[in-house]
Amino acid sequence: MSTPQKFEFQTEIRQLLDIVIHSLYTEKEIFVRELVSNASDALEKLRHLQLVEKEIFDDRLPSEINLTTDDKARTFTIQDFGVGMTRAELIENLGTIAHSGSKAFLKALSEGEAKNTSLIGQFGVGFYSAFMVAKRVQVYSHSWRLAEPGHVWQSDGSGEYTIEEAEGQRRGCKIVVELKDDCTEFSLASKIEDILKRYSSFVQFPVNLNGKRVNTVQALWLRGKSEIKDEEYTEFYKFQANAFDTPRLRLHFSADAPLAINALLFVPEDNPERFGLARSEPEVALYCRKILIDARPKDLLPEWLRFLRGVVDSEDLPLNISRETTQDRALIAKLSRVLTRRFIKFLEEEAKDHADSYKEFYRRFGVYLKEGAALDATYKDELMKLLRYDSSLTKAGEPTGFADYVSRMKEGQKEIYYLVGPNREAIEAGPYLEGFRARNLEVLFCYENVDEYVMTNVHEFDGKRLLAADHTDVKLEDLPKPPAEGALTEEQTKGLVAWLKETLGDRVAEVKASERLVDSPALALNADKFMSPHMRRLMKAMKTEDAGDTPPRVEFQINPRHPVIKHLAAVRETKPEVAKLVAEQILDNALIAAGLLDDPQKMVARIYKLLEGVG
Ligand code: ADP
Ligand code: MG
Repeated sequence: MSTPQKFEFQTEIRQLLDIVIHSLYTEKEIFVRELVSNASDALEKLRHLQLVEKEIFDDRLPSEINLTTDDKARTFTIQDFGVGMTRAELIENLGTIAHSGSKAFLKALSEGEAKNTSLIGQFGVGFYSAFMVAKRVQVYSHSWRLAEPGHVWQSDGSGEYTIEEAEGQRRGCKIVVELKDDCTEFSLASKIEDILKRYSSFVQFPVNLNGKRVNTVQALWLRGKSEIKDEEYTEFYKFQANAFDTPRLRLHFSADAPLAINALLFVPEDNPERFGLARSEPEVALYCRKILIDARPKDLLPEWLRFLRGVVDSEDLPLNISRETTQDRALIAKLSRVLTRRFIKFLEEEAKDHADSYKEFYRRFGVYLKEGAALDATYKDELMKLLRYDSSLTKAGEPTGFADYVSRMKEGQKEIYYLVGPNREAIEAGPYLEGFRARNLEVLFCYENVDEYVMTNVHEFDGKRLLAADHTDVKLEDLPKPPAEGALTEEQTKGLVAWLKETLGDRVAEVKASERLVDSPALALNADKFMSPHMRRLMKAMKTEDAGDTPPRVEFQINPRHPVIKHLAAVRETKPEVAKLVAEQILDNALIAAGLLDDPQKMVARIYKLLEGVG
């Protein structure tokens, strides 16, 4: 037997301990995670050694982690049968600073974050986090090496620690934490079980608490796809996402480069934000070799993927990854890119190979893809390919994508046309489509508020401008003139156009005779560069200043072949008073179709006046 030998902690460790001990950090429970993860590391190391070493002390011990709580003695004990530590290793590992997380923590402190003890949770500070809750820590250890006896290392976390020989030790480490008076909750089995469930459910070695196995759920993401049943995936999803539904889609994949990744991602059955419920939070958990790093990492996936659930495990991450260091931030960013690209690719495959399932997914989650396309420049191009719209050439309920649209474009067509409206019927009944139909040009139909933002923010697809079909920028090529039979002559048309301009005054920016109209007497084109009719309506609904009071700027086009217009030209000569009312009414009708009529009251009065003249 030797007498205890005293050692001083390295200066940096002393600083670290001082902060850890005096911190009022609320998540003291992370010490459990840190100790379990060290135990798991030690078992993992042993597994490697057993492959290469012939002689290992106390071989045949089970690879497991045993925790015991004693609320009378107010202790928390964790034992593993891993590699253990020799005397030199105890000094080296527990007395000096080698640990990357602790180092980074100290660096952050020296950079002026000294008061910010919440850093402890982010950095972990490994073994030393035990001193947040401990009066005294004892580490009993026997190395896997046969030559050395066992030792006990102990400290109260002040400047010193002692080491002495200890007989009768099994291989590995047994750490006894004597709890501070205000931390005795950690000697309650229920409390520890709760913490283990949260942080260590997927540790690859059995974790037993007072003799009872705690971690029964396996790290599914590390198993081969072919050996996992659907029900197992579903059960795992429910456990992981704390959910009750059956996931709609899942992506289970692994990669080696540029990062080692095992990921299991789920799309829930339904969009959690659908009934205007609270915005969902990112909930894909981040693991390093089955040990939880962060249950809700903020920057692991882009905002628009916040509906995803599941797990990402990467061996290339330090357990105590920190958003404070540029290096780690870059690592997370890289991980994020790999995951996002892979998920997008998965959706592309779904769209191709399982069209019906993709359609159902898109119906519920398409809005997130649109959000991404409009706001996230990094993935805009890929996301645009995933969007689907009804169109003038497709059947209702069979939406099409931009790539397909482009493949159908007519020779010489430079733009991609779309119309915003509440639904297919409304758009088809409006006057805008007919000119495009007559020229066999496809128009996409947009029904959602967000579509407008997508179209205006994205501008183009595959080098082709996205253009609203009701905008004056649309220049349609001339068709062979429709049969002029009975149409107004050029002279008459000119006269009528001039008269309309004068009669309608400020209400129109311009009046023109239209070649594009077939069945409608007139239409109004939006001439506002910056605001579509739809956006204007939205802004009016929100009572935004710059939308409300100025009348819309429109180009008014008339169809000189239409009976109503021909009639108007005649009445203009004989009954100018009635003609004025009719002209205004035709304009109002066109504005209604354009969604630009601000004040229907006047129209009602006018109609009564017109009705007086009937008969
Ligand atoms: P990290 O785990 O990031 O290396 P820690 O502060 O948690 O940092 O632990 C410091 C070192 O102490 C470890 O690297 C390991 O060498 C040693 N150690 C801690 N716990 C154990 C254990 N249960 N068995 C063997 N070695 C351990
Ligand atoms: Mg550790």
